[in-house]
Amino acid sequence: MKALITGGAGFIGSHMAEALLGGGHKVSVIDDLSTGAMDNIAHLKSDPGFDYVIDTILNAPLLAELVDRADVVFHLAAAVGVRLIVDSPVRTISTNIGGTEAVLVQAAKKGKKVILASTSEVYGKANKVPFSEGDDLVMGPTTKGRWSYAASKAVDEFLGLAYYKEKGLPVVVVRLFNTVGSRQTGRYGMVLPTFVRQALAGEPLTVYDDGNQSRCFSFVGDVVNALVELSLLDTAVGQVYNVGSDQEISILELAGLVKEMAGADSPIELIPYDQAYEEGFEDMRRRVPDLSKIKAAIGYEPSTDIRGIISSVIAFEKDRS
Ligand code: UDP
Repeated sequence: MKALITGGAGFIGSHMAEALLGGGHKVSVIDDLSTGAMDNIAHLKSDPGFDYVIDTILNAPLLAELVDRADVVFHLAAAVGVRLIVDSPVRTISTNIGGTEAVLVQAAKKGKKVILASTSEVYGKANKVPFSEGDDLVMGPTTKGRWSYAASKAVDEFLGLAYYKEKGLPVVVVRLFNTVGSRQTGRYGMVLPTFVRQALAGEPLTVYDDGNQSRCFSFVGDVVNALVELSLLDTAVGQVYNVGSDQEISILELAGLVKEMAGADSPIELIPYDQAYEEGFEDMRRRVPDLSKIKAAIGYEPSTDIRGIISSVIAFEKDRS
């Protein structure tokens, strides 16, 4: 097949391109380099099955042409990273909602399948763990900027599923849970690349709050393979899937593990949320996916545990510096 990846020069998008090319598929990428980077796709440029364009998905005639040439669209372009969301809420909301609508409009004109990337953030402050796809979404107030990300991605999901119901557009929604791996930048707040860079530089590891909040980190290679498989599964159309790992780790434990594996003697510094983000910042204490739906659909089984993931990020960061 020929795939179009929006946000294909980003961290997940570039791995997605690699996985598809490795499977013998053709790949087009569109990316405005707002958070992506040419470095992420430089090694793919010589592949005859690969092409890319640096532009925004809001360029409607261009997007129409790219969608027309593709069989399936992996829509990964979005404003991501808690830092970016807190600092630029307008950009977050308009990029996420406007960009997704633009993709769905063009896909609907041509009847092309869309794999729509959403996020575990949509579960918000829900405290029923693990999170299942049919669970209620519990948002915080609109006065707290962080929730604009969850709310905008929830609107994307509604819109995608509405296109499926009303216009028969084949759409699959995937909720990604803390995807990590090589090429992820710490610039927008993501914890693992931040800790690894801090450890390798011998700087303090900045653990926010008491560090007892936990996450399940999933290896980007597992995530992109799952997305390819879901794109090939007819029964996935019109469905929502959690994609990730259900191995939970506290942020304090993560910091300890990164320190140990990097052989660093950096101290661990506890920083209050107010100082790390903004006054009144709200975080989620736990975020664990129920993976039974995706396991039943494609036999999904994460291949790489947290140690394997950390060592791949350490190797990547060492290589880069
Ligand atoms: N975090 C931290 N130190 C950092 C960056 C993040 O302790 O330098 C915490 C953050 O508050 C959250 C967790 O690590 O509880 C995961 O943060 P990230 O931004 O990677 O993803 P999120 O789960 O918030 O989307």
